[in-house]
Amino acid sequence: MTVLRLSHAELCRVLDDAAAGSRIHESEAAALLQLTGHEIWKAAAAADGRRAEVVGDTVTYVRNMNLHMTNICKNRCSLCAFGRKPTDPDAFCFTDEEFREHARDAAKKEVSEVCYLAGVHPGFTIENYEKMIRTLCEEIPGVHVHGCSPDEIAFAASQSGLTTKETLVRLKAAGLGSVQGTAAEILVDSVRSVICEKKIPAGEWLRIIREAHDIGFRATSTIMYGSVETPEQRAHHLSILRDLQDETQVFTELVPLAFLHRNTPLEKNGRVIYGSTGREDILLTAVSRLFLDNMRNIQVPWSKIGQKMTQLGLMAGGNDVGGTMFADSLSRTAGAGEEADYFDPKDMLYLCADMGRKLARRDTLYNILE
Ligand code: SF4
Repeated sequence: MTVLRLSHAELCRVLDDAAAGSRIHESEAAALLQLTGHEIWKAAAAADGRRAEVVGDTVTYVRNMNLHMTNICKNRCSLCAFGRKPTDPDAFCFTDEEFREHARDAAKKEVSEVCYLAGVHPGFTIENYEKMIRTLCEEIPGVHVHGCSPDEIAFAASQSGLTTKETLVRLKAAGLGSVQGTAAEILVDSVRSVICEKKIPAGEWLRIIREAHDIGFRATSTIMYGSVETPEQRAHHLSILRDLQDETQVFTELVPLAFLHRNTPLEKNGRVIYGSTGREDILLTAVSRLFLDNMRNIQVPWSKIGQKMTQLGLMAGGNDVGGTMFADSLSRTAGAGEEADYFDPKDMLYLCADMGRKLARRDTLYNILE
């Protein structure tokens, strides 16, 4: 794709068009992602105006808990500091009883969602996933289980001699509430071969999300930005998501995941020296709001960029802060610090009031609860 640099007049025209709800082109999104200096704030202001029109002033969050069943992972992606080999000294995998204990803990914390987030254990089959989902549903009354990325679905299928569609049907019957749009990273195979070479290719990710939609699931969408991809590849990824959303309306939200570089193989082998920058965090949120005219909710994930940057993201097009989480070992092992574990709704409320916005608790599918 040709790189488009915007003159001042062109920038004003693109931002005006997008703020008015007109669809902007992928090359224009790529150009916006490269803004510097005071022009960043123009993009943020246009996105903030669009956010106010699309979803209003309320900031939402979900009371949820992450559950990391295991860090043993068949993929051991270059972008990840969490995945381990089974023989690594700090590898872990909960027993059934330990998993049930964590589910009971989630019930005590009165969460409405459990986010199953773990390594793709090389020994797991569909039965392991079904058992975990059933345990969560038994122990936490009314819980919405959010989990199973397309990569996990493809792996569980191949381990169990099933098609991915049969796997999705069984996961639904076990109680899976919605499909996690993780493992998307950047949906460009030349980038995937560097950052997550063992994960399924981009086309397979899209095929499985389509299949999930066909059998009645909603899904989240994600982008992992700030490692080795270019602004053009970020824009292309967003364009792929926009096209699929036009076709299916399957996505509840976009979760822009800032790449955290510490302790990752990408850092250790010298491919990156830093993760996403503050400029990139603001622009990714703003451009997502302006470009994804069919995506109502743009999340600003505090565990990746910190609570203060999250507040800035909420003033640049974001309308949701994600979940309370209680644990985020994936971000912590990549250098996010212990504050990545829990965002107290009292603190969310303070930050929202500070910028003149309201806070509301939602469920996974964005129904307002309180
Ligand atoms: S990103 Fe996910 S799949 Fe890749 S190594 Fe980490 S836990 Fe495993």
